[in-house]
Amino acid sequence: MGDRRRPKEWVMSNVAWIGLGHMGIPMSKHFVDAGHEVRGVDIEESARARARENGVEIVDSVREAVHDVDVVCTMLPSGKQVTEVLTGPDGAFAHMPAGAVAVDFSTTGIETAEALGAQAREQGVGFVDAPVSGGVIGAEKGDLALMLGGDGEHVTAVERFTKLVGEYIVHVGPSGRGQAMKVVNNAMMGVGMAVSCEASVLAQRLGLDPQVFYDMVLRSSGDNWAFRNWFPLPGVVATSPASHGYEAGFMVDLVAKDLRLAVELGTEHDVTMATSQTAFELFRRTSEAGAGTRDLTALALELGAKVDPPAAG
Ligand code: NAD
Repeated sequence: MGDRRRPKEWVMSNVAWIGLGHMGIPMSKHFVDAGHEVRGVDIEESARARARENGVEIVDSVREAVHDVDVVCTMLPSGKQVTEVLTGPDGAFAHMPAGAVAVDFSTTGIETAEALGAQAREQGVGFVDAPVSGGVIGAEKGDLALMLGGDGEHVTAVERFTKLVGEYIVHVGPSGRGQAMKVVNNAMMGVGMAVSCEASVLAQRLGLDPQVFYDMVLRSSGDNWAFRNWFPLPGVVATSPASHGYEAGFMVDLVAKDLRLAVELGTEHDVTMATSQTAFELFRRTSEAGAGTRDLTALALELGAKVDPPAAG
C-alpha cells in the first residue's frame, strides 16, 4: 500500500499521531508502511500496545511527539480531547515546528474546528480539519472519504499525507467546512443506521430470513450505506460488527455525539431535524442501557433483536 502510493518526490517525514483507537490504529499504520517515522500518543495502554506492534514509536507526551514533525495527526473521540491535545502550554500548537500542520481527522463539530484554525494561525502553525467517512474498513483499506477545511496552502502541504488514508479527498473550504460536511453526512448515516436496525428487527419478527431480507433490500428502494455495510443482524455481512459480537467498529457514544451536533446545528440554523433527533434518542437510550462502547449496530439488540448465540456483554 505504502509503495503504491509513494510519489516520486517522496521524502521521509517525522509524524506525530495522537489517538490510536479504532480508526487511529489502521490509519497510522499506512503512515508507517509508507516509510515515515510515526510517534504515537494515547492514554490507553491497550491502544499503545497495538500501535507499537504496527511500528509506531510510543512516547509519553504530546510535546515529545511533535517537536520535530512535518505533520501532527489527531484521531480522538470529540472536540474536547482534540482541543486538549492541540492547545494550551503542553499542547501540540505550542511545541510543533513553525510551519508544520496539524491535521485533525476526528469529528469535532464546526465551532471547535473554527476555533482551532484561528488559534493555530495565531501560533504560526497550520491546521486542517479533515473528518473522514468509511469506517474501520475504509481506514484499513486506506480509501476513506476526506472532507478538508483550512487554508489552501496547508491543505496542499499535507496532501502527501492525506493521500495515505483517503481516496476521495475534497477541500470543502476554510476551517470548519470539513466538519460541516461531516456532521450533515453523519446525520444521514445515523438515521440510516437507526431505521436499518428497527427494520431488521421488524423483519425478524415477521419471520423473514435475514439473508433473504438483506439481499432483497440491496436490490430495492430501502438500501442505504449503513444497512449495506453494517447490517445489524449477525451472520449475513461478514465484516459487519453485528457478525462479531457487536464489538466496535463505530461506538454508540460516537454516533450519538454526531447526531447531537447535527441537531444543535439544526436548532441554530432553524432547520427541523426530527429524524436526527429521534435517532439521537435511540442511540442515547442504547448508551444509557450500558452499550455506549459497543458498536452502533447494538441498537438492534436494544430494539429487541434475537441473536443466537446471545451476543456477549
Ligand atoms: P476511539 O475511541 O476508538 O479512539 C480514540 C482514541 O483516543 C482512544 O484510543 C483513546 O484512548 C484516545 N484518547 C482519548 N483521549 C485522549 C487524549 N487526551 N490523549 C491521547 N489519546 C486520547 O474512537 P474512533 O472510533 O477511533 O473514532 C475517532 C474519531 O473518528 C471520532 O471523532 C469519531 O467520531 C470519528 N470517526 C469514527 C469512525 C469509526 O467508524 N470508528 C468513522 C468515521 C469517523
